[in-house]
This record gives sequence, structure tokens and C-alpha cells, in this order.
Amino acid sequence: MFDLVLRRATLPDGRKGVDIAIKDGRIAAVAPELPGEAGSEVDATGRLVTPPFVDAHFHMDSTLSYGLPRVNQSGTLLEGIALWGELKPQLVQEAIVERALAYCDWAVARGLLAIRSHVDVCDPRLLAVEALLEVRKRVAPYLDLQLVAFPQDGVLRSPGTEERLRRALDLGVDVVGGIPHFERTMADGAASVRLLCEIAAERGLLVDMHCDESDDPLSRHVETLAYEAQRLGMQGRVTGSHLTSMHSMDNYYVSKLIPLMAEANLGVIANPLINITLQGRHDSYPKRRGMTRVPELMAAGLTVAFGHDCVMDPWYPLGSGDMLEVAHMGLHVGQMTGQAGMAACFDAVTVNPAKLLHLEGYGLEPGCNADLVVLQAGSPVEAIRTRAARLLVLRRGRVISRCAPVQAELDLPGRPASVSFTTPVA
Ligand SMILES: [Zn+2]
Repeated sequence: MFDLVLRRATLPDGRKGVDIAIKDGRIAAVAPELPGEAGSEVDATGRLVTPPFVDAHFHMDSTLSYGLPRVNQSGTLLEGIALWGELKPQLVQEAIVERALAYCDWAVARGLLAIRSHVDVCDPRLLAVEALLEVRKRVAPYLDLQLVAFPQDGVLRSPGTEERLRRALDLGVDVVGGIPHFERTMADGAASVRLLCEIAAERGLLVDMHCDESDDPLSRHVETLAYEAQRLGMQGRVTGSHLTSMHSMDNYYVSKLIPLMAEANLGVIANPLINITLQGRHDSYPKRRGMTRVPELMAAGLTVAFGHDCVMDPWYPLGSGDMLEVAHMGLHVGQMTGQAGMAACFDAVTVNPAKLLHLEGYGLEPGCNADLVVLQAGSPVEAIRTRAARLLVLRRGRVISRCAPVQAELDLPGRPASVSFTTPVA
């Protein structure tokens, strides 16, 4: 006997009328018209049922701090970094924990059950590291939080940071981060990539660096990152976040770069909401979009994910943990309006980041964790179009969030009494 069966669901690959049976926190069977008793049943007729959303790139130590100690007036990345520098000495651990837990509540309600968060390791007290390790432990029953040791002020540029980064890893931070474009010279940037990849290789850890987050077409640290991934035998274990300089690079150079990245099986994370906001700030008109070359990287076989990056912090005043909003922006900025492109944008907030995070048990096959989201939408494209309500969010087969379908009551002559923005179920 199953614990729970979701009946007649639509799956992201387009299969319709599929039953999903859950037993002991795992998916036990996925097939049409499954026989057998269940402790309880959910009618998911015509509803998209998907594994949870995954955010591959976030900053949980700064989230929900918007306005502390002041707002970012210029809106630039550099003022954001300076503002974060002003805020850091004032941070207290309990406040970071409280804000992060509040954000995780939003995430769960949005069906976002796995987040890779960078955590700044430049503070000698490692306050944010300790806070987010505590948060990771507290949310573990309902959300996978993966932490990246992020040297915000530069591992070479900021004295003592290498030692602090190693200490953060000793404390249990999962992934090695970096910020080569923020080091003082191109040579230092490349040296930081080498150093950090070697630290990760020694410890058997994954790498995810903020890399080339600028409009400078000559910011080419991604080349070093791909080279080091290959040299150290870390193919498939190294990710470049942002890579916005690729937007502005010379096309001939990119024709050589993308195959190098593919050989290294480099992961790629674009952060569409933040890239479109922070890049192109030195331009008058035309203004560059700044997002990396998402469709071209996908076409070359690289795994590309979209991250939220920021929610209400020194860099970005908006957001609510909604990865469909992220996919929606990525789709627009990348001009991915074809059917395949839109479907790829849904993958960029689900299966692709799950792969980059090396999440275990993610998916819709029997044996996978029964972590599922039931959406008020009939397809991934409709989910993006309407930023569909997350009707049910399940973790290990247990409903941990529910939401009523969105519907407006109308009072119009000769028109229907309500409207919900979804297309009629076929
Ligand atoms: Zn970031």
C-alpha cells in the first residue's frame, strides 16, 4: 500500500494523466492508472507536477537586509560591495539567522527546496559562516542548503582571506568559491583561480566562482577556470557563475572559448535578474544586457542554470524566492521565446541546477526523493508565463506548503464569472 498517490498529473516532459505513487518518502511508481491502495490521494488532473525548483546561486548572508545601513543609490555592483562592507561590522549572528530562516520560509512556499548560497568568508569572526551553518542544520528537514566559501573582497587582495576560507571549509562549508575579476590585476585573478581550484582538488570539493562579473570583454578568467578544471581532473565539478563579460567578448575569441569550456564540462550559472540590473551601468545607449551567452552555451552541451543571486539586499531591492520569475527574466534577456528555448528556461531552474549542485535523489523516477511541487499550470511554459501558484509542495512525501489556486471573480455582462489565466485543460 502506498502512502500517497498524486493522480492524473502532467509531467514536465509533456506526459499527461500520470499517477505518482509515494512510499516511505520516496517515489515508488510513476505510470498511468496505477492500481493499488493509498493512505491518501491528491487529484492532480491537468496540473504540472515537477521536482522542486533549485536555486544554483544565492547570497543568504545578505538577504532581506535591504536598507541596512542605507540603500544602494547608484545601483551598481561596486556600490553594493561597498555597502555590504559598511554593513558587515554591524552584523549579528542571530539577525542573519532570522533573516535567512524567513527567506527559507518564502522559498518553501515557492516550491524552492534546494539553494546553493555563497557565504562571505572575509570577516575574521566568520560570523556569517557560523550563522549559515546553523541555518543549514535548522532547515535540513525541509530544504537543502549548500554553502560556498566566498572571498567577497578577493582571496589575494584581502590579507588573511586564504586562511579564513580554509577555516570555513574546515567548519563544514561545502564548496570553494572565488572572485577573480575583483583581484587587483589580471595576473592575480588567474593566480586566485589556480589557488582556489587546487584547494578544492586537495579536499575533493566542488568549485563555484563568481567569474568575470563585468562588462569588460578582456575579463577572461573563465578560460583559466576551464583550463584548471581540466588540469586537475575536475571535469563536471567546477562552475562559473555570472560570466557576464562573455556578453561583450569578441565573437572569434568566444568561438575558441566555448569548446574549451565544453571539454572541461564546466557548469554555467547566469543570474538574469541581477545581470540585467547590474551590467551595462557604464554604457549610455545602446546599453548591453550583460547576461552570458545562454542559448549558445546550451547548444554546445554545457549545463546552464539560472540563479536568483539576490533578494532585498545591497545589490537588489526586489524578489521573493520565485524561480519562475528568474526563468521568466532569463527567457526574455536570452530571447529564448521558441518552444524549445522556453522549456530550456524551465530546466534552468530545476534539473540543470540540481545537476550542478550534485543533488542526490532529485527527479521523477522511482527511487527518487518524493520532493514535488504541484503547480496551477498545465505545462512548464504556462508555469513561466503565469508564475503559477504552487498549490502543494511536498518534501519526502509530506505536504509542507499549500496555496489556493489563483482566481479572480468577475462581474461582467455576458462573460464568465471567474478567470484564472490558465488555458483550459485539454
Ligand atoms: Zn553572487
